[in-house]
Formats: sequence, C-alpha cells, structure tokens
Amino acid sequence: MKPRQTRKINIGSLVIGGDAPIAVQSMAATQTQNLEATARQIEILEKSHADVIRIAVDSEKDVEALKQLRDRFPDSIWSVDLQENYKLAPLVAPWVNKIRYNPGHLYHLEKDKTIREKVQFIVDAARENGCAIRIGVNCGSIDPDYKERYKEDEIEGMVRCAVDHCQMLDEMGFENYCVSLKDSDSAKVIDANRRFAKERPDVPLHLGVTEAGLPPEGIIKTRIAFEQLVSEGIGDTIRVSLTLPNEEKGQEISVGREILKDISEGRFRSVPKNFLEGLNIIACPSCSRVENDKFVELAQDVRKMTEYAEKYKLTIAVMGCRVNGPGETDDADLGLWCGPTRVNLKKGEETLGSYAYDEILAQLKKEVDQLILERNGALEPS
Ligand code: SF4
Repeated sequence: MKPRQTRKINIGSLVIGGDAPIAVQSMAATQTQNLEATARQIEILEKSHADVIRIAVDSEKDVEALKQLRDRFPDSIWSVDLQENYKLAPLVAPWVNKIRYNPGHLYHLEKDKTIREKVQFIVDAARENGCAIRIGVNCGSIDPDYKERYKEDEIEGMVRCAVDHCQMLDEMGFENYCVSLKDSDSAKVIDANRRFAKERPDVPLHLGVTEAGLPPEGIIKTRIAFEQLVSEGIGDTIRVSLTLPNEEKGQEISVGREILKDISEGRFRSVPKNFLEGLNIIACPSCSRVENDKFVELAQDVRKMTEYAEKYKLTIAVMGCRVNGPGETDDADLGLWCGPTRVNLKKGEETLGSYAYDEILAQLKKEVDQLILERNGALEPS
C-alpha cells in the first residue's frame, strides 16, 4: 500500500488523514425525531465500533432531537448531514463534531445569496464550534452550474466542483476539512477520486460507493473501489453504504473493516470481468428520510423478482425517499422511489406512474419485460 499524503484533520478526538488509521463510519437510517429508533441505531453502530456516526438533520425539530440524543451519547463522534438546509449549521454545530454539506444542494435556499456567502456561513459555524467539514459531492446531485459546464464529462464536473470548494475554504482560512466524491458506479468513484487526489494530494478523502445496494453485490461494488484506491494511498475514512434492515446496520462497519484488513494484508478479491455486465440493481442505504419502512423489503423483493433477467444489461435503481429519489433514479433504465404510501416508477427520466406497495412489483415486471423485448427482440428462456 502506498503511504497516504494527506494532511491530518480533527473530528472531535478522532484524527483522520496522513498516517492515522483509516476511520470507518456509518449513518443512522432512522428518522432523527424518532428518539427511540435513532438511539437504537446509535447503540448498534457504537457496538460495532463505528469511528464516526452520521445523522441527518433537515429541520429545527431534528436539531432538538439531536440535542436530546447527545445527552444519552455524550462521547460518540458525530457527523451531521445538512441536506438542503444549510441555515441549520450554527444550530447543529454545538452538538456534533463534523458538518457535511453538499455543494449541489446549496442553491435551493436563499437564491439571492452567492454560494460563497453560504459556504462562509457554514465555515463560521464550524469554526466557532470546533467542527470539521466534509465537502460531500454526489453524482446524483451535482451543482447545476457544474453539470451544465461539464456536460461531456460528468466526473470532471464533480472534481472541479470539489476543487473549487476546497479553494473557497482555503481562502477562508479553514483547513479542518475533507472531501468525498461519490457515485453508485465503482469505476466512476475510482476515476473521480484519482483525479481529485492528483490535484489536491493534501486534502483527506472520505471514500464511498453511494447506493451500493444489497449485500452481497453492494459489498462487491464497494470492495472494487476501495481495493483500487486504498492500495494507491487514496482514502482516509470510508463508508460502506448497504441496503440493510436497521437492526443489521452494524454490518456496514464490520464489512468496511474486513475490506481494509484484506487490503492491508494483500488479499485482493479478483472480480470477474463480466461482473455487472448483466442486471445491476442499485439501492440507497436508507436514512432518516425514508417514510415507509417497507423500503428495504421492497429492494430485496425487486432483486428476487428480477432474477430471471440477470443476464440482460439493465440498471434498476430503488431509492428510499421523495427528496433524492427522483434525481438519483434519472440515470437508471428503470427507477423506483418510495413515498409514504406509494412507489413511483420511472423509465430513465420519464415518470410512468405511482403504485401501491403491493402493486409495484407486477408493474415493474411488465416494464422489465418490455425493455428486454425492445433491446433484444425476445426474452430468452432461462
Ligand atoms: S435516497 Fe433518500 S432515503 Fe435513500 S439515502 Fe438518499 S436521502 Fe436517504
């Protein structure tokens, strides 16, 4: 393994970057205001020895819930996802150790303010409260400005956006930050992180394959990316994003540690050349935004129901919420995103309709069959 070149940053008492051990983190998948369920998630992740636990905060009520949870878990290291509501930064910063903002979500609120003004607001809150920052760039929510400018090379759009935000933080004299560049495609994660690390070898990187989906495929996709990057000296903290029932969330940590151990001991799993050449199911790891607990079961049912189509090159995305679901399914051949009582079905960017949870599988099957017919002329007997 090549030594890492990044500078060290502090997330509470945890140090990442440079020669510090690679930290393993995960995220609570429950609604933050559901105190019992979120406390249970935190307990599970603490027991699994998560170095950092991430929690989503969308509203002032979520901040209140977070404060109460903090009383119960005074020592664990927390990162918070600001989602679209960057204005919550000063309210939430006293209770957490790291703030993640997504550059692609900053344009939503207060359109009269510049992105730099909004970043300065987050930086001020982090600085006053001793928090680290993660600039978290995501393929499904690239800043529209960069998306437009780099239409021909989406990866470059992600990298340029991350590099520009790093420069903004540098100019603001704030150094305690790291960056992530995530995609659901392992190859794109490898490409984006390599390009970024070449340009900013000093900035610590948080690695992850977003929406990797259900085990075992989700683990394999993540392993492909981590084996390549970590062995090249890229990556200071990792998150394995798996679609799992809440009680099994600790697997994200154990799987992450197992992958790191294998890499450090030179055990690389060869991935067959044709892996993911057929059916590819991506599914989000779920978070506090999931409004119907049937989501994980639905993702499992989709995989089972589509087994008959595994040799066809098709991507099906299953997403847990109406906030990121519509955008994150655009690139899939067929996309499902879950609302409180209905599941929305898409073909590429086109919405086909919304269906009850007990109707969606039959509807999806019709669309899968139709796509196979369109592309192959006929469905081959399995
Ligand atoms: S798609 Fe929605 S539910 Fe799934 S991880 Fe993203 S924000 Fe959370």
